[in-house]
Amino acid sequence: MLEIKNILLQLLFALSPFVIYNIYYRKLEINYSRRFIVITCSFSLLLSMTFASSIYEGIIFDVRYVIIFFGILFGGVTSGLILLGELIIYRIYIGGTGVYDALIIQAIIFPLSILLCSLYHKIRKKHIITFIAGLSFSIIPLISLYINKPEYSVTYFSFNIIVLLVQNSIGIWLLITLFNKSVSDKEFYIKHIQNEKVEAINQVAASLAHEVRNPLTTVLGFLKLIRANTFNWEKTERFIDISIEEIYRTEQILSEYLSISKPFGSIQQQIDLASQLKTVVDVMTPYANMNNVELEAELPSSPILIYGSPTEIKQLLVNFIKNAIEACTEVPNAHVGISFSIHLRRVQLVIQDNGVGMDHEQLNRLGSIYYSTKSTGTGLGLTFSYQAIRSMNGTVSVQSTPLSGTIFTISLPLA
Ligand code: ADP
Ligand code: MG
Repeated sequence: MLEIKNILLQLLFALSPFVIYNIYYRKLEINYSRRFIVITCSFSLLLSMTFASSIYEGIIFDVRYVIIFFGILFGGVTSGLILLGELIIYRIYIGGTGVYDALIIQAIIFPLSILLCSLYHKIRKKHIITFIAGLSFSIIPLISLYINKPEYSVTYFSFNIIVLLVQNSIGIWLLITLFNKSVSDKEFYIKHIQNEKVEAINQVAASLAHEVRNPLTTVLGFLKLIRANTFNWEKTERFIDISIEEIYRTEQILSEYLSISKPFGSIQQQIDLASQLKTVVDVMTPYANMNNVELEAELPSSPILIYGSPTEIKQLLVNFIKNAIEACTEVPNAHVGISFSIHLRRVQLVIQDNGVGMDHEQLNRLGSIYYSTKSTGTGLGLTFSYQAIRSMNGTVSVQSTPLSGTIFTISLPLA
């Protein structure tokens, strides 16, 4: 009974990098880092060695080989070496009759793990490597113990074989399969979020091209008039001024567009929500015009400082405004309004439209991944936006009535 309990405990320790990964990275749009692997493996190594199974004073069994193998596989050889260092120091500190054996076994298993990991990356049938690793992590310590401590090995033969085999084979298999599954799910999700961003930006770009063409036509017309030389200098000067203004405006639209379509960067800093919103409204106005929607924003004159990543904020504003515009394309007098208010050290941003609205069932599904009612929709815009708002300690609420419109209220803490 005690053996089963110990084995289960060790399996739990072996799975701790997987569990921590799922908790820590659940909300992030990035995948695990080498540092993450080293930290979680160190933690799991310490726990597993502290609460190791033992039947004879000084000889302990834990899931150290599994953890180090996992560390090398996902964190590289350097991570493996750091973990090995920790293991050796801690094993010597624990002490007992098994220290010498532990070091010898490690001297064989560590290089073997590096070899197996590099094979793992190369071959297609990865489960064969996992199987070989699990088996060798059980057999090598058994053989070594038999050579160095035959008496002990014979007396506790069944304990050794059961504990080693079960802990190592099941531990390695569970940890690697589960971790791989989570990592590939995450990769899939990140790729989709990025596609969604590209998709949203592409749609906005079509209307942008349109917007840029107008000032170009104006400037072209003026240049032709100036060339014809039919006007006095005063009038010509006026044409030049208007042209310069138009070019400035175009330049501004383009640079704002470029700033929005930059890749994700989640560097957190103090930012002015008002100016971010102004940029986004400027970029989204052509999109609204193209859809015959009036976009109106009540921009405050003084800055509203919040803490977050500028690219994420812009992206989430684009998502909400774009959805609002898309909700009103079919309605007469379509209107999207944006307003601000400050209350109890929080800023409230309200995005209101008089579009199609949503019923109760739609509201419930809002923000779930891939939920979309549009033929070209991805259903990722709100998923991303909700996550970004949550990561800034903000909240979103929504009120909607079918056929009459929707109000999204985003509340964010002030910096
Ligand atoms: P997508 O825009 O690609 O469909 P989103 O995650 O941005 O994905 O939105 C999910 C769904 O939420 C939309 O398909 C739409 O049905 C609904 N929705 C979002 N905003 C509004 C809104 N302002 N008015 C009506 N429906 C909305
Ligand atoms: Mg959308």
